[in-house]
Amino acid sequence: MKKIQVLSDEVASQIAAGEVIERPSSVVKELIENSIDAGASQVSIRISEAGKNLIEVVDDGNGIPFEELELAVTRHATSKLQLASDLFNINTLGFRGEALASIASVSHFSLISKHENETIGGKIENLNGKTITKSKIGCPNGTTITVRNLFFNVPARLKFLKSDITEKQRISTLVTKFALAYPYVRFKLTNEQQILLQTNGNGDRREILNHVFGFEIAKQMLEVKFEESPYYITGFISPVGITRSNRKEMTFFINGRWIQDVALSSALMKAYHTMIMVGRYPICILFLDFPADFVDVNVHPTKAEVRFSKPDLVFSMVQRATRRALLAYSSFPEITQKFWSQSSEPDKNLDETTWNPARVLDDENQNFDFFNRGKSDISASEKEGISSQSIYVPLLRHVGQIGATYIVADGPDGLYLIDQHAAHERILFEKMMAQMGGSIPSQQLLTPEVVQLPVHQTMIFQEKIEILRKIGFDITEFGPNTYQIRAIPSMLIGINPKEIIQVVVEDFEDDETPLGNVVEAIIAARICKRAAIKGGQILSKEEQKALIENLEKCETPRTCPHGRPTMIHLSVDLLEKQFGRKGSI
Ligand code: ADP
Ligand code: MG
Repeated sequence: MKKIQVLSDEVASQIAAGEVIERPSSVVKELIENSIDAGASQVSIRISEAGKNLIEVVDDGNGIPFEELELAVTRHATSKLQLASDLFNINTLGFRGEALASIASVSHFSLISKHENETIGGKIENLNGKTITKSKIGCPNGTTITVRNLFFNVPARLKFLKSDITEKQRISTLVTKFALAYPYVRFKLTNEQQILLQTNGNGDRREILNHVFGFEIAKQMLEVKFEESPYYITGFISPVGITRSNRKEMTFFINGRWIQDVALSSALMKAYHTMIMVGRYPICILFLDFPADFVDVNVHPTKAEVRFSKPDLVFSMVQRATRRALLAYSSFPEITQKFWSQSSEPDKNLDETTWNPARVLDDENQNFDFFNRGKSDISASEKEGISSQSIYVPLLRHVGQIGATYIVADGPDGLYLIDQHAAHERILFEKMMAQMGGSIPSQQLLTPEVVQLPVHQTMIFQEKIEILRKIGFDITEFGPNTYQIRAIPSMLIGINPKEIIQVVVEDFEDDETPLGNVVEAIIAARICKRAAIKGGQILSKEEQKALIENLEKCETPRTCPHGRPTMIHLSVDLLEKQFGRKGSI
């Protein structure tokens, strides 16, 4: 064993730096945060070799007084906080006084700055955590920080970095998100002389959104504007037709600070519940502005995690804000020209996404793939231009049924094709959810049904039995692992009660079981799927009309509870183009 020794300043600061500065993008993040704290209206970032060779950040903020230059690079030296109690009312991004010291201890570091009240600026250079030169220098108001040869003295760190492309990507993603969070600041990111991003600081977030998601998706993102003073949530969420296979593209800023928070992502997903497929995730970039004392920012070295003093309130706000935006804008897929013309001119590249009604017919296929037919992560709707425009289901005139599966209707703006199964699922589901908690009309069975379950299923079933009772089932225990069903909800007449039990005891997938009464929604959705009219079933004219009318009354008529579209739209405009009456294809 070695003797216990106090570490040298140099080693101590390298250890501390390890927490704050993990990779080049951490440097960029800390420097941008400082520029924003300094009130900059312009921030230019220049990188070379993915930031390993050079990171330079220039701002026009209020600058650092000549006297304080060394202090800025000293650990635990900050102008943003004095008392411990200030920690609970922080209005700046920085407060730990650690970033510059950490960066300087693992790089060749120089700082040029001129404070707005001084006539001349100053420059310092640091090596191994110590200031080695200091001089006066003529320069405009603001600060320039140059970080060269990052991790030159901790080569182990370099080994943990990903490829240059990935590290560069991280930097540009980061800068873009900051640009979106601070639309009144002009950002410029240059990589080896090439401009990767430039914003004009005019406050228009939509414009910057193109850089984050690409034009096609950006234009479809739904705007969130939620104000319930003192809580404000703004930003963008994806419509139900645009999803991802993971949660990575959910971004949250709280009080201008980019944070990672699993609970916020869950709140968001809850808002989409029944609108998108299980296993798919929405995209968002949301900015929460809450009173400062709501958020404890001092829980994580890179300030990437926070603690909320009233988490439930924060989550329910996020959920409400999202839900509101979704309901306001959500719509059904629309067949656009590109989509339509594929059938006549098959495009090799689009093979995967070619319109294939057979898939829509495939009822048993739980993993219905209308939105995700391609192998790529980008959903088919993005490629095919299925657009989200309409807010309501318009009043429709019934025309007929085709393929014993779709109902054709005539609307104010063209032709609508309704998937009878998906539509009926939605109708039953909303009816069931609306009635739940009240008394749901139920129907006695002539001969009660007795069901025996294997032991492991009995345990699952026992947990859910109350929900079934709420929905209108009369179920009693009838011996070990055996149940008797005496009545079922009237709306489900004709369904085999045993099937319902099966639906309830099936495994719940991770993402299907968020909080609270959502379990009820999952069960209701599953039951409605079983109970709904199937594709391939001929319906009378009256039944078809009733289906349309009932769908029009639904709150979320455009998708079934599992997220499939209930209808698609072929606009008059497109028809006219197809028949050569207007414009060309
Ligand atoms: P913190 O931001 O937590 O205070 P930093 O190490 O990032 O710690 O910065 C130390 C101090 O240096 C800041 O408190 C601030 O006073 C000053 N500073 C750093 N960067 C800038 C900048 N771009 N413009 C003006 N002042 C800066
Ligand atoms: Mg800082």
